[in-house]
Amino acid sequence: MINLLRKDFQEAMPILEQLEAHQYKAYFVGGCVRDFLLKRQIGDIDIATSASPKMVQEIFAKVIPVGVEHGTVIVRHNHGSYEVTTFRVDGTYSDQRHPDSVEFIDKIDEDLKRRDFTINAFAMGKDGKIIDLFGGREDLDRRLIRTVGDGRQRFQEDPLRIIRAVRFVSQLGFSIDPETLEAMRQVKQEIEHLAVERLANEMAKLFAGNYLGDGIAYIKRTGLYYYLPVLREASHIIHRIPDSLQPLSSFGEVIALFHLLEPGQTVERWSRAWKCSNKVRQEAKQLVEAIRYFMENGLDEWLVYRLDNAYFYGFIHLINNLKLEKTVNLSQVQELAAKLPIESKRDLAIKGHEIAAIFPDFKKGPWLKRLIQQLEEEVVRGRVKNTTFELKEWIQCNPPETD
Ligand code: ATP
Ligand code: MG
Repeated sequence: MINLLRKDFQEAMPILEQLEAHQYKAYFVGGCVRDFLLKRQIGDIDIATSASPKMVQEIFAKVIPVGVEHGTVIVRHNHGSYEVTTFRVDGTYSDQRHPDSVEFIDKIDEDLKRRDFTINAFAMGKDGKIIDLFGGREDLDRRLIRTVGDGRQRFQEDPLRIIRAVRFVSQLGFSIDPETLEAMRQVKQEIEHLAVERLANEMAKLFAGNYLGDGIAYIKRTGLYYYLPVLREASHIIHRIPDSLQPLSSFGEVIALFHLLEPGQTVERWSRAWKCSNKVRQEAKQLVEAIRYFMENGLDEWLVYRLDNAYFYGFIHLINNLKLEKTVNLSQVQELAAKLPIESKRDLAIKGHEIAAIFPDFKKGPWLKRLIQQLEEEVVRGRVKNTTFELKEWIQCNPPETD
């Protein structure tokens, strides 16, 4: 029986029950069953069913048809979202993004066969019984990543699985089965044709893994980096990665680290080659700036003020990973942040238009922005009090240079 304490499965149970009440088969599948067996925290709960996407949409009140052509419907239940996917077999993957076609089927067996690794190919019924057709439980015990079926064929179908193998090493601390590893070596050049967004998604998970060092060791051993954006031209970077790398919690941290290890490859270049969002690029830039400032000046109010709170962890991760001579810990950063007199320029006791009014003859221009930044720094460093009177006084003593 499923441990009644596992609240996450209990909450999703009514979805299985409703599907079964309509005479369909339904199981928990994939990573959630693996993590349940490993007693790890479960990410998201995925469900596989014999009901067609159309039926799933009819049965449940709140649905989001995210990928109906691939059989996936999101079912909202209480406060959770669950991907419910119709049992399917995949056609060929000619674009290495999506299978060209999928065929919906009635039995779970073939659906489990299309899954990448034995430890990801479990299904678990309502009664807690586990379907394990490929020796997944044994592989969990042996801590092994092994493809379902012939590795070469499975990696050729979808080369993303090569990266996923390393991602699971990094998350679980498992080894890769020798035959699977050999297949990865043979097919590795195919990862060049993958959609970068898919790659980046897996890489972000890889770099956040608790056994990141093991993952990187596989990337080195197999030479996978020769086929990854940026790294393929600047392959020496991989050898600069410190051995005992600590997990990085976002791709922005990853880019910042790589850029600091090899300043010749800019944040811009990394972000473009990996098609990162603006947010990731900005995060990388802020982190790089903070680390450079820290190396020169150490930790102070001005550094903490300019670094977004959300990046404090990343900043510490980078300091540790770069093995900088000076170190700091998170609570030191947080303590400084808590004591800051202002959080942003909006908190300044003088507004832009008030400053402009002091200099009616000056044309609008970058001088104002510069002056505001100076005020921020004076206030943050505690040299000027954040009162309108004192700020005005400081401005009068330090009149701006116009452009
Ligand atoms: P996580 O806990 O990070 O979500 P996961 O194992 O659930 O890990 P997902 O990427 O969410 O991984 O995929 C869900 C399941 O779908 C996998 O466990 C696997 O069975 C299957 N799967 C996902 N991607 C592939 C793929 N490229 N090839 C074959 N099967 C895949
Ligand atoms: Mg998942």
